[in-house]
Amino acid sequence: MSEPEQTLKAHSRPSTMDQTGKRLWIYPQAVAGFFTHRREWVSYFLVVVYLLIPWLRYDGLPLVQLNITERQFIILGNIYWPHDVKYLVFVLILAGISLFFFTALAGRLWCGWACPQTVFLEFIFRKVETWIEGDRNKRMALDRAPWTSQKLIKKASKHAVFLLFSAIVANTFLAYFVGTENVLVWMTQAPTEHWVAFLVMAANLGVFYFNFAWFREQFCTILCPYARFQSALTDEHTLQVTYDFTRGEPRGKKGKVAGDCIDCGACVRVCPTGIDIRNGNQLECIGCARCIDACDLIMDKVKRPRHLIRYDSEARLNKKTTTLMRPRVLIYAVLLVVLVSGFFWAVSHRPLVEFNVLRSPGNPYIILQNGDVSNHLSLRLVNKDRQSHNISFRLEGLDEAQLVVPVQPFLLPANTIRRLEIFINVPVAALSDGKHPVVLKLYSDEMEVAQSDAYVLGPQQ
Ligand code: SF4
Ligand code: SF4
Repeated sequence: MSEPEQTLKAHSRPSTMDQTGKRLWIYPQAVAGFFTHRREWVSYFLVVVYLLIPWLRYDGLPLVQLNITERQFIILGNIYWPHDVKYLVFVLILAGISLFFFTALAGRLWCGWACPQTVFLEFIFRKVETWIEGDRNKRMALDRAPWTSQKLIKKASKHAVFLLFSAIVANTFLAYFVGTENVLVWMTQAPTEHWVAFLVMAANLGVFYFNFAWFREQFCTILCPYARFQSALTDEHTLQVTYDFTRGEPRGKKGKVAGDCIDCGACVRVCPTGIDIRNGNQLECIGCARCIDACDLIMDKVKRPRHLIRYDSEARLNKKTTTLMRPRVLIYAVLLVVLVSGFFWAVSHRPLVEFNVLRSPGNPYIILQNGDVSNHLSLRLVNKDRQSHNISFRLEGLDEAQLVVPVQPFLLPANTIRRLEIFINVPVAALSDGKHPVVLKLYSDEMEVAQSDAYVLGPQQ
């Protein structure tokens, strides 16, 4: 293959890759300014919330725990079982529509301000790196320099702190699934006492460390699917981090060209994904607004108005009228309000005791010695409540039928799933069509709490 064929065209490759497909390491320069300060506060708040949640208790239960092994989700003192998967679907739809709404309104607000990848990378790991190795130029020089004892110490210290912070982030992540008590036990006991848990922890730590120490912005530019479809969610009225081309061009040294951009490259040097916002909106832009702060500092220095790079819409940059309240935004907003209200209504009316009817395999019915038909049904009972319930059943819809339950009422302990075998006995004459619909009603402490439709089957006459 000839050399030109081996190279990748600039427009078809990510900003972090050279013509030969090799990774270009990004060295974002530190920046301070209006947006960076606010992002910093939002990020620290989110980090504290993330670290605290697994430790918090509500009504004697973890505030949030997604216990996959025991197939229980605990949220705000309520236990959700696999039967409640509909609420999870609800939450996922809500998350999707919020993402659509905020993207249509203000582009990649999530990526720049709240995504864990950005929050941890930019405000924890990158800070540690800058603190130990110095800002952009020093980091570049250190990486180019030959291995000396000083370089070794700096690199080793950085990776030791990275490992420590990755362990905190990774073990907290694990605590959301298995609880802080288990994580503490696994952390303090010898690996030989719980090999599987130890390997899970080590793999989890490895993934976080690999991501924050090496993979970094590649996660956003290569792996994350959101970047790929976000352009379908925005339009010319969406607020995005944008370069004012009309005001900035032609770029060049101050006093020599008419445009305001002095082509200093500060916006590119601070960019965590290594792009030049002056080339227009790009897939790699995570909307972090660092380039806005960097350019504002430059504009102050050269005594020109700020906001050459700013949050703005394409329509306004092209001198068209623009509005935030477009049909798609309004539709998403209405959908969000309806879904959030529906979700809270559904959760607050969630039945705590439920059952479903399973017909036992094999014969649908048997004929008893007295000539009656007997249907054997298996019931799967769930008590999602945190207290026991006195359970009994009644049958409606077929007066001649007799419901046979081993013990009635019986105690269904809190937080349990039980299987119960019941029989419906009925004279053959009552089943003229060979089947008859009935309703099985479940009573908890004499209150009807659930019901299920069923059929009593018998021989055709
Ligand atoms: S920071 Fe501003 S002035 Fe400097 S290159 Fe970027 S857009 Fe131009
Ligand atoms: S172009 Fe600006 S907003 Fe986009 S990722 Fe780079 S620094 Fe952040």
